[in-house]
Amino acid sequence: MEHAPETGLTCVSCGQNSVIEIEMKLPDGTEVVFCSCHVCEARWWAKEGEAVSVDGIIGLVSD
Ligand SMILES: [Zn+2]
Repeated sequence: MEHAPETGLTCVSCGQNSVIEIEMKLPDGTEVVFCSCHVCEARWWAKEGEAVSVDGIIGLVSD
């Protein structure tokens, strides 16, 4: 069973705080955080502490 530390983040979708964070660095050097909620399986990205859309991240990667 996967064991991931809880971050204290609140899910943007369901409001629970069973959210895991995975830090990643984009090809252009931008540091982003991939967030995933265990409760409702919502997934989103955060950059510099603010949630960003998946489209925004894709734009960063493909440029
Ligand atoms: Zn959730």
